[in-house]
Amino acid sequence: MRAMVLERPGEPLRLLEQPDPRPAEGEVRVRVAACGVCRTDLHVVDGELPNPKLPVVPGHEIVGVIDLLGPGVDALALGMRVGIPWLGYTCGRCRYCREERENLCEAPLFTGYTRDGGFATHAIADGRFVFHLPESGEDVGLAPLLCAGLIGWRSLRLAGDGRKIGLYGFGAAAHIIAQVARWQGRDVFAFTRAGDAAAQTFARKLGACWAGSSEETPPEPLDCAIIYAPVGALVPAALRAVRKGGRVVCAGIHMSDIPAFPYRLLWEERELLSVANLTRKDGAEFFAIARKAGIKTETVSYPLTRANEALADLRAGRLQGAAVVVP
Ligand SMILES: [Zn+2]
Ligand SMILES: [Zn+2]
Repeated sequence: MRAMVLERPGEPLRLLEQPDPRPAEGEVRVRVAACGVCRTDLHVVDGELPNPKLPVVPGHEIVGVIDLLGPGVDALALGMRVGIPWLGYTCGRCRYCREERENLCEAPLFTGYTRDGGFATHAIADGRFVFHLPESGEDVGLAPLLCAGLIGWRSLRLAGDGRKIGLYGFGAAAHIIAQVARWQGRDVFAFTRAGDAAAQTFARKLGACWAGSSEETPPEPLDCAIIYAPVGALVPAALRAVRKGGRVVCAGIHMSDIPAFPYRLLWEERELLSVANLTRKDGAEFFAIARKAGIKTETVSYPLTRANEALADLRAGRLQGAAVVVP
C-alpha cells in the first residue's frame, strides 16, 4: 500500500510504500476511494492535539470498499461500500459508553490520530465502527459527510431548534449544515473572515439569508449559533449575537484561547457548550437526513501524493467547501 505518513508533528507528510495491512479479529480492510481533509487533520499535523500515534496516517473521512475481512466479522461483506469516521473504537464498558454517550468514551481510538487513517490506498477499521454507505453518490462527494457532515449534524442538534441560526466559519462543515438547516426551515446567518466576499457569496448561494464578517452584528438577534472556526475570539462575538436564552455551540476539537469577556454576554440564561466527537447513532441519523435533504457537497480533489497541498490550502483558507484526497 501507499500512504502519506506523519512522522513528526510540524513536518510535511511523507509518501511511504508499506506492506499491505492485514485486518485482525473483528477488523476489515478497506480499499480507499476518497478521503476528506478535515480541520482536525491540520490540528494533528501541526501538533495541536496531544499524543498522536506516531508515525500516523491522517484522514478520517474515508469512503471505500471492503476488500478483506478479518476473522469474526459477520455484519459486513466483501465488496460493501463503507465509510470510516473519526470514532474508530470505544471500550463499551465505561460510564459514557453505558450511558449512550460513546463520543465521550474513556478509552477511545480515533481514526487518523490514534489509529491509522485514510490518506492511503488502504485502511484498516474495526468492523463495528464503519458505516454501510449507499451505492449511489460519488466517492469524493460523500467523503466530507463522514466528519464535516457528522460532527456538523451533532452540533446542529445540540444547538437546539431555534429558527435563526448563526454559523461562524463557512468551511466544510458549515456548507453542509447550512443546507440541512435550510431544509429544516431555519434562517441561516453566515459569518466569515472579514472581507472574504467569496465565502459570503458561497453562503448565500447555499441559502443563507444573511452573510457578513464575524465582527458584524447580524440584522436580528439569533436563537443559536455554531462556531466551526478554531478562533476563541468568536465565542464572545457569538454570545453577543444571540438573544436571551440563546445557545452557542463550539464544534471544533481545538480553538485558540477565548479572550476574557464581560459576564453580561452570558447573563440572561445564554448557554455555551462544546461538541466532542460523534456516536454511531449520530451517523445513522445523519446519513438518513443527508439523503432526505438532498445534501450536495462542494469539493476540491487532490491526488494522494499532494495531500500536503490540500492541508496547506485548508490552513490558508484558500478552499471553498471541502478538500478530498483521492488515492
Ligand atoms: Zn467507553
Ligand atoms: Zn474531522
